[in-house]
Amino acid sequence: MRFTRLRLNGFKSFVDPTDLVIHEGLTGVVGPNGCGKSNLLEALRWVMGENRPTAMRGGGMEDVIFAGAATRPARNFAEVALVIDNADRLAPSGFNDQDQIEIVRRITRDAGSAYKANSKDVRARDVQMLFADASTGAHSPALVRQGQISELINAKPKARRRILEEAAGISGLYQRRHEAELRLSATEQNLARVDDVLEQLS
Ligand code: ATP
Repeated sequence: MRFTRLRLNGFKSFVDPTDLVIHEGLTGVVGPNGCGKSNLLEALRWVMGENRPTAMRGGGMEDVIFAGAATRPARNFAEVALVIDNADRLAPSGFNDQDQIEIVRRITRDAGSAYKANSKDVRARDVQMLFADASTGAHSPALVRQGQISELINAKPKARRRILEEAAGISGLYQRRHEAELRLSATEQNLARVDDVLEQLS
């Protein structure tokens, strides 16, 4: 599976439809400050299912929609499409019936995000799993945000551990542990209640 195209429309500074062809061997994007290099990486992260506004350098998810400029009004939606070459047919079932997969994410003001895979509606979770199975995705340690290296160097040990855990892909285990602890505590309360009842009966 190889990314071959990234199309942007109304995403951050890319107000007009823009088609980035990702040729094999592309190693860098250069341009003057503020021309949108980081926005391209954020578009890639976003179409793969990123849901943290902070990872998009915004306060809310709608901040990815073109906010307007002196000569152009704001847009009402943003859309990013990622085209994946699936000629080797390594995509998970459900996505694996064509040589090319096009994932589209669109956000509309006051209406949230919607995803499509080859023009069919899909859930955010399906898209996230597609990329997770291909060992990539919005949280892939291969995508390094601007400032992330100095954050890592300057972070307190606890925060640095969190970054390393995210890179190691074990952050999800904390959520599962928390859920298990809640279930354990509910079970302990139930057992205590059973003991009370048994005591009253004896
Ligand atoms: P640098 O080299 O300084 O890091 P860059 O090429 O990575 O710059 P970006 O940070 O990708 O540039 O782009 C920043 C530009 O995107 C700014 O001009 C900012 O105003 C614009 N921008 C960000 N979000 C939006 C938005 N929602 N609507 C319009 N423009 C936006």
